[in-house]
Amino acid sequence: MQNYITPNFSFAPVIPERASGSRVWDTEGREYIDLAGGIAVNALGHCHPDLVEALTQQAQKMWHVSNIYTTRAAQELAQKLVEQTFAEKVFFCNSGAEANEAALKLARKYARDHFGAEKNEIIACANAFHGRTLFTVSVGGQPKYSQDFAPLPAGINHVPFNDVAALKAAISDKTCAVIIEPIQGESGVLPATAEYLQVARRLCDEHKACLIFDEVQTGMGRTGKLFAYEHSGVQPDIMTSAKALGCGFPIGAMLTTEKIASSFGPGSHGTTFGGNPLACAVGSRAFDIINMSKTLAHVNRQGEKLKQMLTELGEENGVFQTVRGEGLLIGCVLADDYAGKAGEINALALAHGLMILVAGPNVLRLAPSLLITDEEIEEGVAKLRSALQEWLQVCGKNG
Ligand SMILES: *Cc1c(COP(=O)(O)O)cnc(C)c1O
Repeated sequence: MQNYITPNFSFAPVIPERASGSRVWDTEGREYIDLAGGIAVNALGHCHPDLVEALTQQAQKMWHVSNIYTTRAAQELAQKLVEQTFAEKVFFCNSGAEANEAALKLARKYARDHFGAEKNEIIACANAFHGRTLFTVSVGGQPKYSQDFAPLPAGINHVPFNDVAALKAAISDKTCAVIIEPIQGESGVLPATAEYLQVARRLCDEHKACLIFDEVQTGMGRTGKLFAYEHSGVQPDIMTSAKALGCGFPIGAMLTTEKIASSFGPGSHGTTFGGNPLACAVGSRAFDIINMSKTLAHVNRQGEKLKQMLTELGEENGVFQTVRGEGLLIGCVLADDYAGKAGEINALALAHGLMILVAGPNVLRLAPSLLITDEEIEEGVAKLRSALQEWLQVCGKNG
């Protein structure tokens, strides 16, 4: 097929066409088990009937009225988010990057409003991922995503992740925000320690800086809690959500307290599509399903099962050194002998009818539907087993 899309994506050699639950079919009619979930997006699987209903009902009613008006759908979803989190106010947008862009801009403006223009420095973590706008690639800790787009926004410092001493050394009264992923998703499914988050909270309080949690990947039930910060009990001042929030319909959100939100006065920030009724209607129905204790218990149970089976698979063939993560966000870290081969294994898994992800060159990442069944887990792991068997035969060890 002729490819008309800009070459910043390297597309897989198959074209998905139809999907249901945790299964996807391509244009050739081949079936896949989906343990990737559209990169931690399709939290309720594909085409969940309740979400199809919410979307089509709203589609018959009203699509868009501009941000000159609020809508019932937007207020309803915002109320649900507020009632179940630390937050008191919500800003809707269309993606994770936009949510983080809003969070970072708000932290700068809040600091300027209350403490003056000097307080503008942002501390972020090495290897972090916060999106692809110029500000968010600059704050993200992966120079490969930012260096070719210089000059970059100034006032951003990077510290090693989970390094308490480095954070203590870096923070000052000029710091306006510290931004952390509770689990670094893109760079290897690497959880922050509870101690790191606690120290970050204390340091932000001492220096009157906003603590921002980027929960774009960890949010909405993915880790077995509605948001991952609940595991540590450390509350942020600002939090971002996207990916699973609309379960595949584009929507992002920035959540914060009333006091901080008041720095976003009329006209200070905006979006054309953010909070549109279609996205909010889907998000609102998805929220009700994800936030059920039954769903979150299922995530914990299926996460343990999948982690256990992957650990056994790794012990059997020696390909994984550890399997880590929380709930249904799981990373299989490749053994040293197989370092750098995650992409190859990922491609072969697809050929075996299994959709998974990588998180950097050394980690296979799984982020399946939160509703995944026992049979689907077993079938997925069996496909991964046969893909790894073939890969070990064909490619063998490094060197
Ligand atoms: C995916 C992701 C983003 C970016 O979200 P987009 O919707 O692609 O802009 C930001 N932060 C984290 C932690 C993510 O995983």
